[in-house]
Amino acid sequence: MAEIPDWLAKGAPHLWRPYTQMKTAPPPLPVARTEGARLILEDGRQLVDGLANWWTACHGHNHPHIRAAVEAQLAKAPHVMLGGLAHEPAYRLAARLAALSPGELDHVFFAESGSVAVEIAMKMALQFWINRGVRGRTRFLSFLGGYHGDTLAAMTVCDPEEGMHGLFAGVLPAQHVLPLPIDAASDAALDAFLAAHAAEVAAILVEPRVQGAGGMLFHDDEVLRRLRRLADAHDVLLIFDEIFTGFGRTGDLFACQGAGVVPDIMTLSKALTGGTLPLSAAVASRRVFEAFWSDDPAAALMHGPTYMGNPLACAAANASLDLFEDGGWRGEVARIAAGLAEGLAPCRQGAGVVDVRVKGAIGVVEMDGPVAVGELCRRFAELGAWIRPMGKVIYLTPPFVIDDQELETLTRAVRTVVLG
Ligand SMILES: *Cc1c(COP(=O)(O)O)cnc(C)c1O
Repeated sequence: MAEIPDWLAKGAPHLWRPYTQMKTAPPPLPVARTEGARLILEDGRQLVDGLANWWTACHGHNHPHIRAAVEAQLAKAPHVMLGGLAHEPAYRLAARLAALSPGELDHVFFAESGSVAVEIAMKMALQFWINRGVRGRTRFLSFLGGYHGDTLAAMTVCDPEEGMHGLFAGVLPAQHVLPLPIDAASDAALDAFLAAHAAEVAAILVEPRVQGAGGMLFHDDEVLRRLRRLADAHDVLLIFDEIFTGFGRTGDLFACQGAGVVPDIMTLSKALTGGTLPLSAAVASRRVFEAFWSDDPAAALMHGPTYMGNPLACAAANASLDLFEDGGWRGEVARIAAGLAEGLAPCRQGAGVVDVRVKGAIGVVEMDGPVAVGELCRRFAELGAWIRPMGKVIYLTPPFVIDDQELETLTRAVRTVVLG
């Protein structure tokens, strides 16, 4: 490895890194530039980005159309507060998201990060009941294997065991975290649970189709249809956290659309700006919104992140939606799915491999125990790939613009490491 750049040496004692034991972690890789499906390191090496920058850069890094939109907006107004003021990028984006979202998911509340969008969705659900004069709907029902963010309320609805927040058990309010209704028996169990507890449940919260950070766990669309039926039968709200699955990752623009299920609230972030700027949204149905529509000021949603609907981020998101509009991404996701299935299949023979699975542009090799993340990252980088395993899973979520050779670089790196 080439010399560590001066800025990294000087800043490293001061920058507290994410999900990192600062004492033992190897140094991070210094990135000089990003382009398409590649990260270009300070020493000139190029790595194919197997993660799309934490699942954000769906159209590839530094896309010229998105960059131009952000530059044009930067020259006009980098930020305009949404309290009492309006600007074109946010209002245009809200109308477009409402049009793209299924059913009556028509009311878009912006924030800056996924976790905060989840917090807002939870707050909307709690206040939905309060505004309707219903008391006692104070808890949430979420699922084992789930991940919804790192802020305090979002942590309470993550899987308490598998998740990263086990240390805080007993500190945070307990929610109901149960098995997904993957078959008739678990469906009946959830039905029975709700029959006993629905009066205290504000909403059911789930990542549709793929539980991402909890281990890239897939479930059938029938699970989502069961959840919709159960939510309706027991009169609780249904929140889909599409922060990972939204914007094409599973093969449909939103996972819920492919499943034919409309939630009451949907959260979006990650790929919303095509990986350019932080932005998130909680999109509420007309029914949810109407519970806040009142002459009573106390019935309003009292939330307003300072940078909500930032014009640069909204310009990026509008430009990203332009790129989705031509529909070419569907073919790209199908091509990537086929390439992942073929390229990862040989890993089934690897020692310690318990499963290989692919859904949309998500490829997973699951091992029988947690892997040495830092060590594996280093080996993948030597093989020209940026891949960062999570717990027991080595996974690929590449940008949709990745070409076949770059995809082969990624799957070859995984095969090389897994097959040893
Ligand atoms: C990443 C993620 C979040 C949290 O988003 P941040 O922007 O990191 O706060 C929430 N839910 C899901 C499903 C995610 O994948």
